[in-house]
Amino acid sequence: MKIYETKVEAGTKQWLKIPVDEECSLKAAAFCGSRPGKRLIVTAGVHGCEYIGILAVSRLIQELDPRQMKGEVVFLPIANEGGFYKEIKQLVPEDGVNLNRAFPGTEMGSRSAKIAAAVETYLYPDADFLVDLHSGDIHEMVVPFAFFPVAAGETVEKKAAAAARAMSLSWRVASTAKNGLYSWAAQKGIPALLLERGGLGRWTEREVDAYRINLYELLVHLDILPESILESVKGMNLKDSERSPESEVLPSGKIEQKEIRTMRYLEAPGNGFWYPAIREGSCLKKGDLLGEIRRLDGSLMYRYESELDGMVFYYTLSLGVSEGEPLVAYGEC
Ligand SMILES: [Zn+2]
Repeated sequence: MKIYETKVEAGTKQWLKIPVDEECSLKAAAFCGSRPGKRLIVTAGVHGCEYIGILAVSRLIQELDPRQMKGEVVFLPIANEGGFYKEIKQLVPEDGVNLNRAFPGTEMGSRSAKIAAAVETYLYPDADFLVDLHSGDIHEMVVPFAFFPVAAGETVEKKAAAAARAMSLSWRVASTAKNGLYSWAAQKGIPALLLERGGLGRWTEREVDAYRINLYELLVHLDILPESILESVKGMNLKDSERSPESEVLPSGKIEQKEIRTMRYLEAPGNGFWYPAIREGSCLKKGDLLGEIRRLDGSLMYRYESELDGMVFYYTLSLGVSEGEPLVAYGEC
């Protein structure tokens, strides 16, 4: 396989340095299977404090044997190294930009734009599928779900939705975003998913294991690994007592996945104190209180009510919020 100008021999793995600018390069691990097949790109760490995805990717890099693979996988475990090592939530510290709003990038821009350009130049070409792992930043909580693109044509949507269905996740949520790592890939014709799980910048072994299982399910769906591997993957590593009570990380059987087409994304209108009245996974009836924004003196600025019957997919726990900051994402179900 060839990644830009680097050749990786069949049946081997190789660490790559993807140049961003004079001070920064991205560390990626390329696996070339012993037989030809599809190419999967797996990214994490777009938001530097979302650790579960970063760790799951790191585990797979250690575990996978390229000789047993059919096809190719390129892992980018930490897209935003500055944010990760400096513990900066949500933003690339070198320029204060959210990397998941920086696509398409440009080599002439600031660090985020350059990272985005490097990802597009080095990782998008020849990709048959891309998955980007997020994990609930320091200020937010999410329920585990997959975003799939619905603004990139029917073929991309169908392939992405089929891959989501292959994973042990309860929800897949339609998204019209276009400016993130996975959503811009979709715009370029690559079926892609963004996975969410966790929150508050925490990570636990069972959450890492759940993501790890999702990645193996995707590798099997893309025929890069044989289905027989799932039984051993779902049975290893954790004792029963460490397993999540969520059915989705249990080794036995598939869970039913529901599709969400109608979402609402609330953003703070300005500086204020945010008092959420819900939490991740809360069931909603139309008219239910979602939360309030108050001034420093306690007086009410805004009150948010649900516009539909549904469920909360994620929300921010930050007390102080500013204009444009996401407050709650909820969907009809
Ligand atoms: Zn994120």
